[in-house]
Amino acid sequence: MENQSNFIKTIMEQDLESGKHKKIVTRFPPEPNGFLHIGHARAIIQNFELAKHFGGYTNLRYDDTNPAKEEDKYVKSIREDIEWLGYTPANVYFASDYFEEMYNRAIILIKKGLAYVDNSTPEQIAEDRGSLGVAGKLSPYRNRSIEENLELFEKMRNGEFKEGECVLRAKIDMASPNMNMRDPILYRISYAHHHNTKDKWCIYPMYDYAHPLEDAIEGITHSLCSLEFEDHRPLYDWVVKETEMPLVPRQIEFGRLGIENTVMSKRYLLQLVQSKTVTGWDDPRMPTLSGLRRRGYTKDAIKNFILSTGLSKINSTVSSDMLEAALRDDLQNKAKRVMGVIDPLKVTITNYPENEVEHIGVPYNSDNEELGSRDVIFSREIYIDREDFVLEKPNKKYKRLALGIEVRLFHAYFIKANEARFDKDGNIIEILATYDPETKSGSGFDARKPNGTIQFVSSKNLLKTKFNYFEPMILDTDSNLDLLERFNKDSWEIKEGFVEKSIINCSINDKFQLLRHGFFNVDKETTKDLLVLNEIVSLKKSY
Ligand code: ATP
Ligand code: MG
Ligand code: MG
Repeated sequence: MENQSNFIKTIMEQDLESGKHKKIVTRFPPEPNGFLHIGHARAIIQNFELAKHFGGYTNLRYDDTNPAKEEDKYVKSIREDIEWLGYTPANVYFASDYFEEMYNRAIILIKKGLAYVDNSTPEQIAEDRGSLGVAGKLSPYRNRSIEENLELFEKMRNGEFKEGECVLRAKIDMASPNMNMRDPILYRISYAHHHNTKDKWCIYPMYDYAHPLEDAIEGITHSLCSLEFEDHRPLYDWVVKETEMPLVPRQIEFGRLGIENTVMSKRYLLQLVQSKTVTGWDDPRMPTLSGLRRRGYTKDAIKNFILSTGLSKINSTVSSDMLEAALRDDLQNKAKRVMGVIDPLKVTITNYPENEVEHIGVPYNSDNEELGSRDVIFSREIYIDREDFVLEKPNKKYKRLALGIEVRLFHAYFIKANEARFDKDGNIIEILATYDPETKSGSGFDARKPNGTIQFVSSKNLLKTKFNYFEPMILDTDSNLDLLERFNKDSWEIKEGFVEKSIINCSINDKFQLLRHGFFNVDKETTKDLLVLNEIVSLKKSY
């Protein structure tokens, strides 16, 4: 897994060889304004795996510089998700713990004549920034004296101005071809309550000022970020240099990961949660790590998937097929295999004695003895999937039960359907069948070939089960439409049925393969009377 090579690894190797760094230090810097999603998993896995590969370490740093959107519940969930992926940060820091140092570094800039307090309105500042090929307009406040700037900045900090009344800007180059260098805003006023520093501060650093300082303060050697920050790199370097930070981190951009038929940005995910379009951040349809976990996705499958997508300098959107294949690979030998029937149809074995039951010892997974074995129960009254029966065999390819046709029941006997019973609306409610005692599984019987093999559950061995099936949240790719209109309203289907009682003592998040159906995860809504299973992935893509 970790032998994979990528362009960032190459840079790190060179930096160690040249002696530029003795140790590799990376960080994962989420803003605690939502739950982590599978795109974040790329950043987490790459940061941790790269540092680990070189014997270095990785910090978790909450990038909490925007009080209005940040909450403690996100702080908590982020930590849990990272641990779930199997990573333990060397240190856990909050950017807000550096506010004092950031403030002091801003004073260095002011003293060097490299920052000024601007009283222009936000609209005016945006307008004066100009556009590509057209130089911006100098602010009338650009030439304030150092003394005046120091005094005004202190007043900003002391809460003497209203929100929006003024900002602190870097004095760089209003004609720069890079718009980010046209006197970017460094500090703004906000009276929002901060989850960590409470009401201590009323000025907050902007991302482009705060982030390089956070990295430099922590001694981060390689600061990995997504591609949209490529144009911000000159400003990143400027901030580190002009604030005279002793340790110089290097920003390296990589491509963002997208997955087809879903949305990833926290802004959109929050909208789905707040509008109650989904049941919460951990809704099993969500691409959040908590949603995927609830659905039954495993950390190993996610890791293998992320590493198989590689790391390049372009954004990429991949189909979920790859992730699903990784899940099947991971669960194949790890999950117990049991029988479950969905939309059950009763079958009475008329030549089997009424009060007899047969216990058949069967391993949970013939490819993994460690999983142990259980008793499958055969009796006069059993259930099969309604889909596994038709009155008349339609064609040669049909390998299930029909009148006059014989199938094998997994682990038990051949049965032959002789008669169907109907309710007054003409629905089939029961099949009368006979079994052949000669055909017991394992007996070596081979005088006849059955018309396929199907699963069953005895009425003496059933666990009432609700099955949740999921489809993609978003079907079309037309992102011009409103998100809530694009949401696939049929993305959660509920079915009912039975599963073998052998798994009655399962725990939430245990995973099973239901023969001929797919892989399922025990949902948190399971009660002592009702097992709730989420389909993780089908056995094979059905289209
Ligand atoms: P979003 O737009 O989903 O809110 P973000 O980039 O604002 O994402 P942050 O909390 O700032 O979210 O992200 C922390 C780290 O995760 C950043 O370094 C960011 O680049 C990275 N990251 C976020 N989304 C993806 C993605 N889809 N693919 C790769 N890396 C990502
Ligand atoms: Mg961000
Ligand atoms: Mg964001």
